[in-house]
Amino acid sequence: MRDHIIPESKCPYCEHKMDRSLNAEVGQDCKPSPGSISICLRCNKIAIFTEGLQQRKPTPEELEAALKLPAVTLAQMAIAHATWNAPWKKDK
Ligand SMILES: [Zn+2]
Repeated sequence: MRDHIIPESKCPYCEHKMDRSLNAEVGQDCKPSPGSISICLRCNKIAIFTEGLQQRKPTPEELEAALKLPAVTLAQMAIAHATWNAPWKKDK
């Protein structure tokens, strides 16, 4: 598992800036492409990579399909675990 540098973009929910991605599928090391699922490390919400590798909110159909993928659930659980005590969560 390694990270990939992507064009700087913002999460469509919390506007967290990101310029790297990490593949969540075990044994996979592919770069994101248009239509790939993205999960924000700050708000843990699902987004979709656009043609320019920016982030957009998923359609209801894309969100439903993403939520059925075990890798998405595991990634969201890992993010929640790794960031449970993050500074941005103490503001709430
Ligand atoms: Zn976010």
